[in-house]
This record gives sequence, C-alpha cells and structure tokens, in this order.
Amino acid sequence: MISYQPFNGILRILTGCRIGGSKDTIGIAETDLPCIRDPFTNLPYVPGSSIKGKLRWLLEVNRKKFTPKGLPCDCAECEICILFGCGYPPKSKGTTRLLFRDCFLTDQSKEKLLALESTANVEEKSEVSIHRPKGTVAVGPWTGERIPAGAEFDFTFTLREIDDAYSIKDPKELYKTLAEGFQLLDKDHLGSSGSRGYGMVQLLHESGIPMHEHLRKLAEGAGKAAGR
Ligand SMILES: [Zn+2]
Repeated sequence: MISYQPFNGILRILTGCRIGGSKDTIGIAETDLPCIRDPFTNLPYVPGSSIKGKLRWLLEVNRKKFTPKGLPCDCAECEICILFGCGYPPKSKGTTRLLFRDCFLTDQSKEKLLALESTANVEEKSEVSIHRPKGTVAVGPWTGERIPAGAEFDFTFTLREIDDAYSIKDPKELYKTLAEGFQLLDKDHLGSSGSRGYGMVQLLHESGIPMHEHLRKLAEGAGKAAGR
C-alpha cells in the first residue's frame, strides 16, 4: 500500500535567479552562461533536483549530518535519509519519501516573459572582474541569463507513505525537518552566485502562507494527534 500527500504552492523569484543550462543542448550562441530551459517552449524552468539538492544540503550543514568525506548522510536512519534518500543506497532501509517535481512558470509569468523585448525571454546580465591594483576591467564582460525577479513558478512536492521500515518514524519529526529546510532556503539562495545577489526565492503554500509555516502547523497537528 502506498499513499501520496501532495504539497502545492508557488516558487517566487525575488532576485534574478540562474540555474545553469548547457549551450550545446540549448543552442544559444550569444550568452556565455545560459539558464536551463524547457526545449519545447524555450522558457526557463526550475528543476526539482535543484530544490531537492539545495534543501538537503542546507539541512545536512545545519544538522552536521554528512560523511567524514563531505558526502551526503548515509546513516539510513535520520529524517534527512528517510526524506531525501540514503546517501549510500545499498544501506537504505526503505523507500525515499520525497518526490520533487520540476517547476514550470505560472500562466501569468509565462505571459510576462514572452512579452519581454529580449528574444531569450529572460534577463541578460553582464558582469566583469576587476583588476585589483588598477581598478579596471581585468576579465569580461561576460553575459549570463537570469530568471527575472518577480517570476513565479508552480511548485509541487509529494510526501509518500509506504509500508516499510521507515513507516514507524514519527511524522511530526519529518514535517519539522521539512519546515527547517524550507525556512533555511527562504534565507539562502537557489541556483548560482547567491553571494552576489542572485537567487533569493520564497516558497509559498497554496494557502498563501510560507511553506515552512504550513509544515510547522502540520507538525503541531501530528504531535497532538499522537498525544505528544
Ligand atoms: Zn542520515
């Protein structure tokens, strides 16, 4: 028996966000650093793998849960391994609980990006590197693409429940772990160059409240239901 608990919401781009694509596969010649696009529409999207990877990294750093070599936690028992998958799959005791979907532009944001003057349908940002002693341009300019601030994507992830060894784990702790990850992501960044202003995002539940707040409410409810 397997059941699915979907979480729907919006991924809002607060500052220009770049999640890298490949020039070869995307076929864009003018841009040094293209962002990843849907090959059918040529519009940018946010891969579920980017969100999953960033959430996991934030949680592992925050909880100091990674291997001595700096690889993903492979204890097969902590909430991170249960939710995101054991870092060493042969040690896994159950099925990974989370499914992150790729995020595509909302209809409204799609219209806005298609109306841009740029044929690339994104922001094209030039940057340079400064020669330290001279204070002049040492390298560049080069151009990178960013999903512009204000763009919104439909965002979905699913928590699945399967009758295996992980089922005994307290759901309250799983919700709390997810809430911690989403709160960290709102404070951090998605994609590249976060230290230079890129990739500030906000993840909202479909009710309009931050996803981390929704998850904390669920954690409180799960705690009460279990008499804790
Ligand atoms: Zn672990």
